[in-house]
Amino acid sequence: MPHELPKAYDPTAIEDHWAEYWVREQLFAQPTPAPGASTTSGGEAAEGLDGQSSYTILLPPPNVTGRLHMGHMLNQAEMDILTRWQRMSGKKALWLPGTDHAGIATQMMVERQLAAEGGSRQQLGREKFVDRVWEWRHEYGGAILDQMKRLGASVDWNREYFTMDERLSVAVREAFVRLYDQGLIYRGAYIVNWCPRCQTAISDLEVVHEEQKGFLWEIKYPVTDADGQETGEFLTVATTRPETMLGDVAVAIHPEDERYKHLHGKMLQLPLVARKIPIILDEWVSLDFGTGAVKVTPAHDPNDFALGERHHLPSINIMDDRAHINAEGGPYAGLERYEARKKVVEDLEALGLLGAIKDHTNNVGHCDRCKTTVEPRLSTQWFIAVNKSPKGGGPSIAEQARKVVEPDAHGKKAITFTPEMYEKTYLGWMENIHDWCISRQLWWGHRLPAWHCADCHKITVAKVDPTACQHCGSTKITQETDVLDTWFSSGLLPVSVFGWPNFGQSNTPGASSPSHLGTREGNEGYADFNAFYPTSVLVTGFDILFFWVARMIMLGCWAAADVPMPDGSSRSLADSVPFREVYIHALVRDANREKMSKTKGNVLDPIEIVKQYGTDAVRFTLASMASPGTDIAFNVARTEGYRAFANKIWNAARFLFMNVDRAAEIGIFFEPNELGDMPTAGQNAPLEARWIVAELNATAATVNKELENYRYDNAANAIYQFFWGGFCDWYLEIVKLRLDFSETADKQATKAALTTLVQVFEASLRMLSPFMPFLTEEIWHALYDGNPPAKSIALTAYPKADKNSESMLASLSICKSMQAVQLAIIGIRTRRKEIGAEEKAFLNVKIASTEAYPDILRANKQIIKKLARVNELDIVSFTDRNGGGRYEHLAWQAYQYLDVFVEYEKQIDVAAETERLTRDIAKYEKGVAAAARQLTNEAFLAKAPAQVVEGLKKQEAETRLLLDKAQAALAALPKA
Ligand SMILES: [Zn+2]
Ligand SMILES: [Zn+2]
Repeated sequence: MPHELPKAYDPTAIEDHWAEYWVREQLFAQPTPAPGASTTSGGEAAEGLDGQSSYTILLPPPNVTGRLHMGHMLNQAEMDILTRWQRMSGKKALWLPGTDHAGIATQMMVERQLAAEGGSRQQLGREKFVDRVWEWRHEYGGAILDQMKRLGASVDWNREYFTMDERLSVAVREAFVRLYDQGLIYRGAYIVNWCPRCQTAISDLEVVHEEQKGFLWEIKYPVTDADGQETGEFLTVATTRPETMLGDVAVAIHPEDERYKHLHGKMLQLPLVARKIPIILDEWVSLDFGTGAVKVTPAHDPNDFALGERHHLPSINIMDDRAHINAEGGPYAGLERYEARKKVVEDLEALGLLGAIKDHTNNVGHCDRCKTTVEPRLSTQWFIAVNKSPKGGGPSIAEQARKVVEPDAHGKKAITFTPEMYEKTYLGWMENIHDWCISRQLWWGHRLPAWHCADCHKITVAKVDPTACQHCGSTKITQETDVLDTWFSSGLLPVSVFGWPNFGQSNTPGASSPSHLGTREGNEGYADFNAFYPTSVLVTGFDILFFWVARMIMLGCWAAADVPMPDGSSRSLADSVPFREVYIHALVRDANREKMSKTKGNVLDPIEIVKQYGTDAVRFTLASMASPGTDIAFNVARTEGYRAFANKIWNAARFLFMNVDRAAEIGIFFEPNELGDMPTAGQNAPLEARWIVAELNATAATVNKELENYRYDNAANAIYQFFWGGFCDWYLEIVKLRLDFSETADKQATKAALTTLVQVFEASLRMLSPFMPFLTEEIWHALYDGNPPAKSIALTAYPKADKNSESMLASLSICKSMQAVQLAIIGIRTRRKEIGAEEKAFLNVKIASTEAYPDILRANKQIIKKLARVNELDIVSFTDRNGGGRYEHLAWQAYQYLDVFVEYEKQIDVAAETERLTRDIAKYEKGVAAAARQLTNEAFLAKAPAQVVEGLKKQEAETRLLLDKAQAALAALPKA
């Protein structure tokens, strides 16, 4: 039967097919374990009753509005490699996909649509607008997951979640109510970053700071006396936002500032608005910035807000949601903030109260989503008190989140970070964490389950929508309009996707509710949680450290604490963590190590590169450079190289199939591996067979070890070296000698060679599979000729090294022998080149080698002769090297363990050779002299950059070596 593999490797022709197959066949689905079957989760957990421990990764949910970029591609390639490797290594592997509803981003997207239609969300009203967002989500929301499907991500699509799904929304509501009941959620006035375009508070982390050229305006505030009369003196303040003066409530000076000591206790007349404000003393004021006098606007600046709190000052909010001046701004009411700025400056100037205007560069915050300049603004928000002990006592949320990362009494950490340095960053942040503002003034998101009472003005928070105020019974209640920050719902994902808090229901959306899922009383409802929580690792970028990493740890530890362990015992803090490990991957930069950015125009679209080179080559490029803490400089030249690597494997497969088919014609059939076997070679097998098996073992050991440590680069490079350098360049070339299909062939030997060839190749495909899933799947299926032992290579076993010490020792000696043979071949090939022998000519060769090698070389004479094109091969030990006679007059070359003598007729044109070498020697001498001149030139050395001098020295040394060689060759020529 012919093995079907097209002549040329064309990734586009195979990838779509397999991507679709993997999804259709649900190959990576990991259903809820059946009752009784017990699995344990986490990296170091003991094995469960069924002997299979689990390996779980939660995909950090991309925004539902997202499109795949290079960062995603790296992130997902790393997760997929880990999951495929663990799955093949026998773990119950689950990679769980989903998307985040992305409050601001999604709302903005739909608002833009509405604007294009000439409408607005205000016109539509809240309910209809939310319906419209759902429509958008159903139509376009799956784009990024479709891209993942095309790239072959081995996730369980049956478990796909969306953070606004009913069951996840239930978890959000439960968490809110419980936190509120524990006294950990409160409502309060706070200075927030306000986006006037998005009309919502945004977190510090969603503000991008950019240096901007602006001005520093000096404004003169008249000083008044005890009767409130202006004294004629002024106190000058400086500000970058003059319009905020409308909300000033004081001016602060440093108590030690000699310039202003006479003003202690005095008042000022705030210009433009008739308001008297005090001069206050505060050590926070810097003596040398600006004029040393600071206007205080608590409602519009975070530092002023803190000052106001310290001095019990009122806060006057002068702007509305759109950053227009409100009624507090008197005559400026209704003006947009920058119009107001202009008018305020003009009016101050007219009054003679404007001082100097200086150029000033300041750091201006912009909304990460819409780039609008953020306005610090006082508003009423909802918070989680992260540093507060819950009602009834116990550690605070932040304290728990620190504890699980710090070493315990035995030096063990419940969560480890790779690279380790991020642990410190995390702990430092968690040490200084402020209360977490969880409310957003949006329409798209989880609406807060809180109701305001019009009669008693108290708040009712409830799991089920209330009909009356729980304090006074009034029915005049209205639901809070704010929605929750998306980090609140995504922070809960590690618990909510596995059924928290309603453990009686199925966690596989779309699946019919299995009857075995019981209630909270039984343990069955916990099957998913028992099996998959804590998850094994969170793979994410540095920029997400304070988002998912921190929020998931805070909420995960808090929520999982009262979920019983599989055996019914109570859960420790160490087992409450959402993940055992955090792997922070690096940035993908462009080939020049520049950060990719739209403004620079150097953004690489992974989908475009995939179209050009195939997913496998792009994945391999990323893997070959991915290691903890090192940014990736993505260079398509490398991808081209890995595309060639894929091609090499493809051609190896075709060569192999051709031989399998030829063998079949004369009745020789190969013996395939049983699922997951490691090939072996008997003691009597030829050297190359024993060697390639030993190499495969060594490579498998390396790859497994390196992947444990997230060294994707070392793992990928080991496989590359093995496949290209070992398997293709050496083994295939040698094994060709054994594949004899002639009448007189030793069928047994041919069959043995063929079997080792196929088995090693098959195992190598399995080893490569997590890195290049498409190519390996295609070839693997072809290898089994439509009758594979599993539905996918991804469901077979990952190669594991035979750690038996005897076989290790044997491997060592085999590799040493093979090395001797390789050295001999390389030595002869090099020498042939040096003397200019014709490539195809078969020559006579003599090798003199150290003690141990002559026997090995003699035993493998046929290999050497074939691969180095040798006619007669004479192998002697070093001691006999001068006793041979006929090679005496020939030029020879010494290598590390052996000397190689090559007899070649043409080479005896002594006159021509003498002329050539003499010419070369003159050239080299000139080069050495020139370099030496420069290197002794003091003036040159004083000025030249270090690397130039280094380069020159290196060049000189190299030329000197060539000179020595040429002189030696000349001396060795027989005298004419
Ligand atoms: Zn915005
Ligand atoms: Zn009430």
